[in-house]
Amino acid sequence: MTDHRIDSARLQAVIEGILLADDCTPDEASTVADHLVMASLSGHDSHGVIRTPRYHIWLGDGTINAKRPLTTIMDSGPLLQLDGGDGMGQWLAREATVMGIAKAREHGIGLVALRRAGHIGRIGAYAEQACKAGFASIHFCNVNGSLLVAPFGTARRCAGTNPIAVGIPYPGGEDFILDLATSLVAEGKALVAGTGGKPLPEGALIDADGHHTADPFALYGNSLGTPNPDPREGTGALRAMGDHKGSGLALACELLAGALTGNGANGPGEKPFGNGLLSIILDPATFDDTNGFAREVADYLAFVRDSPPAAGVEQVLAPGDKERALRIDRRTNGLPMPEPVLANILAVAKELGVPADRNTLVMG
Ligand code: NAD
Repeated sequence: MTDHRIDSARLQAVIEGILLADDCTPDEASTVADHLVMASLSGHDSHGVIRTPRYHIWLGDGTINAKRPLTTIMDSGPLLQLDGGDGMGQWLAREATVMGIAKAREHGIGLVALRRAGHIGRIGAYAEQACKAGFASIHFCNVNGSLLVAPFGTARRCAGTNPIAVGIPYPGGEDFILDLATSLVAEGKALVAGTGGKPLPEGALIDADGHHTADPFALYGNSLGTPNPDPREGTGALRAMGDHKGSGLALACELLAGALTGNGANGPGEKPFGNGLLSIILDPATFDDTNGFAREVADYLAFVRDSPPAAGVEQVLAPGDKERALRIDRRTNGLPMPEPVLANILAVAKELGVPADRNTLVMG
């Protein structure tokens, strides 16, 4: 249920203040606050400002850490291997993408293996960053220490929600930004359903006996109904998207972004939390001997967008269109936010002595 519309710019200042009070550098605080607000503006509320109280807790217990540098393990031609030291994920991934873009500018391709990044949030942000600089990119991500997803053919949790993103620059800025979790639904959506919000589609989850279900109990078990439902408490799992095909992509993320980067792939037993990210960044100009890339992208996406909508579909969209439209609406009309989410953020601000006035945050 949506209770409020929140002024995103004012909320961003509050979140930045919270992160600064939690000992982040000014650059980390502004990067992470900007990322969280942008995720919420884009409609990915599960990876947006709702995360602020969780980051405050994680900064306190060492799950993520302020002021950790991005360390270069290997730098060879177009290749980079980087270690984030369990630091502020969005800041680390943004810096890693800057370095990857520089490699692609020099070599036509940059390949960046980033390990031990704290939560890096919305992976599409890094595809957008590359597109803004004129580069195409592919990103595989794993979530070590977050076993939530059962691959095709089992009810056992073997993977994280492992997102993949692809960015293709489009002349004029309406870039192709494919950004998806490889689970059928994000964990945040199960949480919303489990706390009385929009129900999950049937079969989004699997119970311990292998039956498909929409009941969040499979994920949260008896912690459902407590103030902080814990997805480690259930005996079931989120299901991987796309049957055997999507499930294979979830596993590819564990192997490319987990095993190959050195972040570590999920497995039995407890593991420390950390995102691994394998990014391939390409300079279209290097391959564009016919000078036709931009025209092909524009023509092809117009071909797709101009297709007649199927029954029940209002408009055919390309990946990234929905997020762009939502940003325009939410910047103008505010971020939809249930009261408990706002109350939680304000409580953290109060605890840290960060000025935050509910009356100026709530619009209208
Ligand atoms: P989603 O299902 O909302 O969207 C997936 C993709 O489909 C997007 O590219 C979107 O533009 C496109 N899309 C949506 N509606 C469309 C339509 N009608 N027509 C054409 N294309 C359409 O995304 P999701 O799978 O719920 O992912 C949520 C977010 O969570 C992503 O930003 C992802 O990066 C993030 N995530 C992060 C982590 C992490 O550990 N950091 C883990 C999992 C997910």
